[in-house]
Amino acid sequence: MVSRVIPVEDFDLVIFGGTGDLARRKILPGLFRRYHSGQMPPGARIIGAARAAIDRKGYQKEVAAALEEFVPKGARSAETVKGFLESLDYVTIDATGDGGWKKLAGMLRANVVHAFYFSVAPSLFGALAERLHEHGCAGPSCRIVVEKPFGRDLESAQALNRTLRDHFDESQIYRIDHYLGKETVQNLMAVRFSNVLFEPLWNAQYIDHVQITVAETVGVDGRGAYYDKSGAMRDMVQNHLMQLLCLTAMEPPSRFDPDAVRDEKLKVIRALEPVDPEDIVRGQYTHPDKGMSYLEQVDDPDSITESYIAMKLAISNWRWAGVPFYLRTGKRLKARYSEIAIVFKDAPHSIFGQAQGRHRNVLTIRLQPNEGMDLFVTIKEPGPGGMRLVDVPLDMTFADALGPEVEDVPDAYERLIMDVIRGNQTLFMRGDEVEAAWTWTDPLIKGWTGRGDRPYLYESGSTGPEEAAMLLHSEGRRWREIRP
Ligand code: NAD
Repeated sequence: MVSRVIPVEDFDLVIFGGTGDLARRKILPGLFRRYHSGQMPPGARIIGAARAAIDRKGYQKEVAAALEEFVPKGARSAETVKGFLESLDYVTIDATGDGGWKKLAGMLRANVVHAFYFSVAPSLFGALAERLHEHGCAGPSCRIVVEKPFGRDLESAQALNRTLRDHFDESQIYRIDHYLGKETVQNLMAVRFSNVLFEPLWNAQYIDHVQITVAETVGVDGRGAYYDKSGAMRDMVQNHLMQLLCLTAMEPPSRFDPDAVRDEKLKVIRALEPVDPEDIVRGQYTHPDKGMSYLEQVDDPDSITESYIAMKLAISNWRWAGVPFYLRTGKRLKARYSEIAIVFKDAPHSIFGQAQGRHRNVLTIRLQPNEGMDLFVTIKEPGPGGMRLVDVPLDMTFADALGPEVEDVPDAYERLIMDVIRGNQTLFMRGDEVEAAWTWTDPLIKGWTGRGDRPYLYESGSTGPEEAAMLLHSEGRRWREIRP
C-alpha cells in the first residue's frame, strides 16, 4: 500500500493538562506514534503545561514512563523514544493566575502553527482562553482543542461557546469527539458516498431499522462521583452515539469539507423527533460482589442516574420516515462491543416458502473490537438436503483485508491532533451542532429527572435490562447479539 499521507507543517503544540490522565494515556502516546512512523515534521515541538512544579527533564521522565506504559513494545524503539522526548518542553502554569504565562509566551516560535490543547477540567476553559489572549498567544491563526464534556446541558454549552468565541473564531475551535477519529467511522462515509451499491438502498424503502450499540464491560469504578452527575445519556448518547447516528443518516454532503459535512449532520439532529418516555429504557448495574454495584460505587445511594440507556428514535424527513433508529449503550455489559447495524427489509416475496424463515441483509460497521464491516447475505446452505437458506457474512476485517500496513493506521487521537495541525475541522463538532444535540437531549433528561423515574436494574455481565428487549420485541424485531 503506497502511503499518501498529507504532510503536516511545523508546529508548537501546547498541552494544558500535559501531566494528566488523558495526556498520558492518549495524547502523548498518539503523538509518539506519529513521530515513530516518521510523520511528524522535524521541527515539531510539544510543550506540556500543567500545575506540577517540574522542569523539562522531569517532564521528559514522566512522558518516557507514560510511553512505556501505553505504547506497546513493538511500536517503539529506544531511538524514536529518545528523539520524541527531545521534542518536548514543559512550563509550570496556573490557568487561573499569572504564573508561567510569560514564560510560555516566550517559548512559542514565530511562523509555525500554534495549537493549544485544553486537556483540563472544562471549568478552566474560560480562564485558559482569557490568559492566552492577555498574553498575546491567541493570534488569528492559532487553534484550540477542547475535550468533552462540552457542557452538561444547553445553557452551559451555550455559555462555554460564548466564552470561547469571545477570544477565538469558530474556525479556530476544535471540539473533540474521538469517535469521529475512528477509522471505521470515517469508513462509513467512504462506503456510503463512494460506492453505488449502498446509497440507492439507504432509505426507508429498503431499510427496516438501524441499531447503534456501544457496549462497555467496565463500570464506573473510581469515577463514580463524576459519572453520577452525568449518566449514559450525557456521557455517551449526546455526543458519541449522536455522531454515529448523524453519519449514518445524513444526506450526502456536496464535498468532504468541514462545513458541508457538519451542515448535513446538523440537519439530522434538527430532524429528530422528541422521544416518547415509553421509548426510553434506563438501567443501573447490580453485582453479586459487595461494592461493585452501581449504587455502591457512587456517592448517592438513591441515585437515579443511568449506567445504561436504550431508546427508539425517529428522524422526520423523507429519507427516514417510519424507520426506527434504536440506540443503546451501557457499562458492565457482557462484552466490549460497538457497532452500527443497518438491517434491510425482507425480500418482497420469498420463492422458497415460509418454512425457510425470515432472512434479511444486514450491514454492520464494527467499531470495536477488530474494526471492520460485515455484509450478511442469504445463500443456500451447502450440501444435500434441499434448498435451505442461511445468512453468512461477507467479512471485511480491515487488518485481514489490508495487510500489515493497517497496523500503522493512526488511532483516533493521533489522527485528530494531526487534523488540528493541518487546520481541517471536518472531524470536529461545530458549536451549533453541539447546541442542537443538547436542545434535543435536555427535555428528555428533565423529563425523567422531574418524574423521578428509577432506572431498571440489570446484572453485571448481562446485555442490559430485560425491558430494553421489549422496545424491539413489541415490534417484532430483536437486538443484535452483543458478542465478546
Ligand atoms: P486529570 O485530573 O488527570 O489531569 C488534569 C490536568 O490539569 C493535570 O495536568 C493538572 O496539572 C492540570 N491542571 C489542573 N488545574 C490546573 C490549573 N489551575 N492550571 C493549570 N493546570 C491545571 O484530568 P484528565 O483525566 O486528564 O482529563 C482532562 C480533560 O479531558 C477533562 O476535561 C476531561 O473531562 C477530559 N477527558 C478525559 C478523558 C480521560 O480518559 N481521562 C476522556 C475524555 C475526556
